[in-house]
Amino acid sequence: MRTPLIAGNWKMHRRISEALGLAQTLAESLSGTSSPGREVVICPPFTALLAVREVLKGSSIILGAQNLYPEPEGAYTGEISPTMLADLGCRYVILGHSERRQHLGETDEFINRKVQAALANGLRPILCVGEILEQRERGQEVGVVATQLRGCLQGVQTSQMGEVVIAYEPVWAIGTGKNATPEQAQTMHQNIRQVLQSRFGEEVANNTRILYGGSVKADNIDSLMAQPDIDGVLVGGASLDVTSFIRIVNYQPA
Ligand code: PEP
Repeated sequence: MRTPLIAGNWKMHRRISEALGLAQTLAESLSGTSSPGREVVICPPFTALLAVREVLKGSSIILGAQNLYPEPEGAYTGEISPTMLADLGCRYVILGHSERRQHLGETDEFINRKVQAALANGLRPILCVGEILEQRERGQEVGVVATQLRGCLQGVQTSQMGEVVIAYEPVWAIGTGKNATPEQAQTMHQNIRQVLQSRFGEEVANNTRILYGGSVKADNIDSLMAQPDIDGVLVGGASLDVTSFIRIVNYQPA
C-alpha cells in the first residue's frame, strides 16, 4: 500500500512573514479537515525553512526543501548541504526539478550525486523527471524519462528505495496551465514502474511512490488521483493558494 503524498513546491516565492502566514493557515486548516493516511509536505524557500519549521510543530505537515548541494560542507559559496537541511528539520528534498535542469544546467550525473547525498543524510529525495515538449512531439518521452531515472538513480541500493519518491513532471505542463491528461500521466507512471522493476525488482516497482506534477489544480486533482499508478502530486503554483492546496490535499478520486 503506497501512502499518497501531496507536496507543495513554493519555488522562489514568499518572504518570511508571508511564508509564516501561509504555513500557519495550512497547519490550522489541515488539522480540522485532515485526511488520514495522506502525507502532506511543504517546501518553502531556504530563507523561510526555520520559521516555517516552528509553525509546523504539532502539525502533521512535513517540511521539505527545494534543493541541496551534494557535499557535507566546504568551500561552495551560496550552497546548502544535506546536513544543514536535516539540521533545519527537513525530511524531504526536491531534486532534479526541471527548472534547475533548464536554468542552472543540472545534469543527471549531478542530480545523482544529490540523490545519494540526500539518502546518506536521512533526507527523502523527491526526484523529478520529465520530457520537454519537443521530445513528446517526437514520441521520445518514454526513453527520455527512462534515461533520466537510470542516470539519477545510479548506485542507489535497492534497500534505499523505500526513501525515494519519483515525481513525473512533463516540462510542458509546469506552470503552463496545460496539464497532462490523467491517461497520459498514468501511462508514463506505468513506464516508470517498469524501469524501476528492471533496475530494482518487482517489490521496489510496486512500493515506490510516483507523483504527478504539472499544473495540478483543485479542478483536475480528483481525476488524476483516480489513476491507479498516481500516488500523489507535486504542486507548484496552486500550493501558494490555501484554498486550492487544501482542496488538493482533500481530493476525492473521481
Ligand atoms: C512544480 O513546480 O513542480 C510544478 C509542477 O509547478 P506547477 O504546479 O505550477 O505547474
